[in-house]
Amino acid sequence: MSFTLAIVGRPNVGKSTLFNRLVGQRIALVDDRPGVTRDRREGDASLGDLAFTIIDTAGLEDSREGSLESRMRAQTEEAIRLADAILFMVDARIGLTPDDQTFAEMVRKSGKPVILAANKSEGKVGMAGAYEAFSLGLGDPVPLSAEHGEGLNELYEALAALM
Ligand code: GDP
Ligand code: MG
Repeated sequence: MSFTLAIVGRPNVGKSTLFNRLVGQRIALVDDRPGVTRDRREGDASLGDLAFTIIDTAGLEDSREGSLESRMRAQTEEAIRLADAILFMVDARIGLTPDDQTFAEMVRKSGKPVILAANKSEGKVGMAGAYEAFSLGLGDPVPLSAEHGEGLNELYEALAALM
């Protein structure tokens, strides 16, 4: 079993953008139940010389019963359960929202190692938000730009320290 990192956070913070940046071609769409639209993505990821499994959560349309919120929550719980470590992502441009606090609480409860990533940190606007993320109590935020590929060295250092 390879080291598994789950990317967790509310919708739209950039989880899938980072997932896509870190995975190679072999992406599995995973479902726990046959006949149900898949909603967890797993892939073989690499960052520098680190190789690991990465899990993306939510964002894929599905026809499952229940609100988006309850599905997101269940899916996130499952990803956290499977993970050796969690990359908790917030949006440094928007700042913290109540949903960030909800997901952060799930991560805290798990007791698993966490890397706090303040995504969309490119440019000056992002740096203020990265600072705000510190108040989550999940450690020092790693300023990241998944879209522009910035902050990956810092992410590497944080991940290497856990693997
Ligand atoms: P998810 O719902 O958490 O998976 O978020 P997505 O990966 O789908 O990204 C949501 C939106 O944020 C998209 O429009 C992305 O292009 C944008 N986005 C992702 N990463 C960055 C980033 O580093 N900087 C900026 N400015 N936008 C980003
Ligand atoms: Mg997504």
